[in-house]
Amino acid sequence: MRNLFGMTLNDLEAYFLSIGEKKFKAIQVFEWLYKKRVWDIEEFSNIKKEVREQIKHDFDMTMIAIKKKQIDHLTYKYLFKLADEEYIEAVVMMHDYGISICISSQVGCNMGCAFCESGRLKKVRNLDVHEMVEQILVIEQDLDKRISHVVVMGIGEPFDNYDNVISFIKIINDPHGLSIGARHITVSTCGLIPQIYELSKLPIKINLAISFHAPTDELRSKLMPVNKVYSITPLIKAIADYLQVTSRRVTIEYVMLNNVNDSITCAKALAHLFKGMNIYINLIPYNETNHLEFKRSSKTKINAFYNELKKQGINVTIRKEFGSNIQAACGQLRGSMKK
Ligand code: SAH
Repeated sequence: MRNLFGMTLNDLEAYFLSIGEKKFKAIQVFEWLYKKRVWDIEEFSNIKKEVREQIKHDFDMTMIAIKKKQIDHLTYKYLFKLADEEYIEAVVMMHDYGISICISSQVGCNMGCAFCESGRLKKVRNLDVHEMVEQILVIEQDLDKRISHVVVMGIGEPFDNYDNVISFIKIINDPHGLSIGARHITVSTCGLIPQIYELSKLPIKINLAISFHAPTDELRSKLMPVNKVYSITPLIKAIADYLQVTSRRVTIEYVMLNNVNDSITCAKALAHLFKGMNIYINLIPYNETNHLEFKRSSKTKINAFYNELKKQGINVTIRKEFGSNIQAACGQLRGSMKK
């Protein structure tokens, strides 16, 4: 059975037409769910009894459940239990500009990045649309606060679950839904090229972030096996084409791994790859995990890398850190649950 929280406005309009009702009922349902936050269909007072019965018959409304919550200052980490007893995580961060959430898109991940905790546990399945929407709804209810920014950077490769991620974005962006602005939504990918081209056609102008992490194919393939399929030259071409079609800026993520990818030579090579492109590079201090062979680069090295990129004319920032005390690195909490 379909879950009501996984339906886009268009899906619901088609549903109402299919049961012989006017399609504006879809807007009414959206406003109950996402504006008034009334999740008992019986209370949908502007929808007549027989239609309410039909909706109850046709849709599931089970939600994911909070299994554990850890708080460290301005970071809240949630572990969720899904209906099939699988676990996923979401992390909430309190900023001065609002509240952001980092959501998961899959149970596990098949990309196998060498330094990443999520990929230790292979993909079990894709998340359904409603399981992504509910990470936001359930946490907002728990905090009694509204989330302003969404990043799809938790467990999973969002572009390996493309259609569901796009439906999720439509629901949270819809003015009758959660109404989160496209510029406040970011999707991060390890670089699946066909989906980068797909995304360039999406009318909702969300932000795209690419996990890059190494300036040569030799090193990138070691860190990120996906590079053996989608290597640097075609990836850069896809990013350039995306920039041209969308006129949106792209974020390049670069995790700083001690003595692996943090030399000045690497900085120069990275700058060379992106010369003249409308991107900015976000340097991410590595969150140390059970992958003991990887350590975080020192502050001095990160600063030197940053300065070199600046000198080469690249826009660059260093990611502000949140939550390393509570295993907020992707997949750490779920990983500890599975042990
Ligand atoms: N699969 C997607 C999104 C999830 S990972 C992607 O690859 O982009 C989100 C980001 O966190 C990626 O850039 C990933 O490489 C990075 N990351 C993974 N493990 C990390 C760790 N332990 N410390 C810091 N960043 C990490």
